[in-house]
This record gives sequence, C-alpha cells and structure tokens, in this order.
Amino acid sequence: MQAGNPDAPKHCGTGKIRLHLDAEQVPTLAEGLKVELEGDRHHYLRNVMRCDVDTRLLVFNGRHGEWRAVIRKMAKKMVILELEEQTRPQADLPDIWLVFAPLKRARMDYLAQKATEMGAGVLLPMRTRFTQGGRFKRDRLAANAVEAAEQCGLVQVPEIHDLVDLEALLEGWNNYAPGRKIIFCDEKAPPGDAMAALNDLANRPVAVFVGPEGGFSDAERNRLLTHPQALSISLGPRILRADTAAVAALAICQSSLGDWK
Ligand code: SAM
Repeated sequence: MQAGNPDAPKHCGTGKIRLHLDAEQVPTLAEGLKVELEGDRHHYLRNVMRCDVDTRLLVFNGRHGEWRAVIRKMAKKMVILELEEQTRPQADLPDIWLVFAPLKRARMDYLAQKATEMGAGVLLPMRTRFTQGGRFKRDRLAANAVEAAEQCGLVQVPEIHDLVDLEALLEGWNNYAPGRKIIFCDEKAPPGDAMAALNDLANRPVAVFVGPEGGFSDAERNRLLTHPQALSISLGPRILRADTAAVAALAICQSSLGDWK
C-alpha cells in the first residue's frame, strides 16, 4: 500500500533502525534528499525489519553525520527514503588501526564486529607464516563491520585495507604509515604495565598488531621486536585467542589513547 500507512510502526523491529549507505552510491546527505535503495539495503528494510511507508530510521554514509529519514515508498524491489534532518554531526574514529591475521570464518566474523565496536579506524589484514583460515573474504569482513557500525551507533565504518604480507608491511612501514607506532601484542613479553607504556604514546597514531591462532613465528617476532617503530606489550599472564587479544588490546588503547577518556 503506497499511501501513508497510519498504522505503520514508527520504529519497526525492536528499536531505532540505523542503516549505513555506501558513500559511493549516496555521496551526500541533505534535507529533503530522496534516496532510492535496492538490493540488500531494501531487503533488510522490507523483509528483515518489515518496514513500511512512514517508518522513520537513521542513516549515515560515513561523511555527513547521521540523518533521520522516512520511508516514502516501499515496493517489491526498491524503497525510497526522504532525509528529514541531521541528528548527529560526522565524527572521526580514533586513529587506532588493528593489524590482524585472517582467522577461520566464525572467529573472523567475531573479530570484524568487535574491532568495529571497539572503535578501530582501520582493519588491516596481514598474512603471516602461521596464518590459517583459508581464503580471506574481504566482502564478508566489510559486511560484518557495517552491521556492527549500524548496531553500535557509529557514523562511519572502519576502513578495510587489502591483505598484505607481514614482511612487506614492516619493510615499507614508514611509507605505508608514516609516524604510526606499532603496538606489538607479544604473548612472550614479560608482564608489564601496558597502560603506562601506551600513555607515553599520547596523541600518536598507533597500529595494534595481533598474530594468528598459531602466533607469530620466531623470525616474525624478532622482526617486530627490532622494528624501530614497534613497542612490545603483554596482555597479561594468559595466552589469549587472537580475537580475544584484539579486543583486549583495543580496549587498553582506547582507554589510554582513544575515545574512552
Ligand atoms: N603462540 C600461541 C599459540 O600458538 O597458540 C599463542 C598465539 S595467540 C592465540 C594469537 C596472538 O594473540 C598472539 O600472536 C599475540 O599477538 C596475541 N596474544 C595472545 N595472548 C597474549 C598475551 N598474553 N600478551 C600479548 N599478546 C597476546
């Protein structure tokens, strides 16, 4: 039914819906702008969240903050939204990268979602000697990051870089990430005060390096330990799974350097 449906729930589903719009497809957000969506965005609104005309939701494209929008048309294959007003300004993520070795499917999904919730600005997959998990699926990683950003209230989605070999990354680090400190999560590091070590890096861009399930090889560990930009930290006396270690490391980075302060 196309006419405004007086019974349409104002917030269908369980609460306020937040929808990421790909900035390539929706490069700007402005009052009164009409946005036509097809494919997975349409499917999500129509079939998953069962929305209809007059439903209001929040949208963001990573460039223009968050906007309230209202559904003006809901058809079988497409939906038209009309933007009403900006609800939040654009905000940048803390300049904290997560450099990780691709994991097996379920853990990779988990890591993508948690790293996004923890506010990592860049997700950089690296291939190491003991990396497992088969072919790296960048699209799947991106989809998990978008879902987490929608759920946790972000107005942008972390940037996802191409898969790179650890050796090449370290070799070219100063060109790839000038001035960026490497926070090397080293399960063999002696116990120490990671927070204090990180506090010395205030206002420095950082990249958290977490190894694969099988850990870094001895050669990789030595390469990291001797890298001029690297700081080795312990995440405590227990050996954490790679996805756990990523969350723990991002937590102390956000707490000492990021937006938890
Ligand atoms: N080498 C062990 C293995 O074979 O299972 C542990 C690897 S651990 C599962 C994966 C990564 O998490 C490590 O390479 C390291 O980056 C990080 N990690 C795990 N526990 C840690 C700790 N207590 N301190 C610092 N980093 C840790």
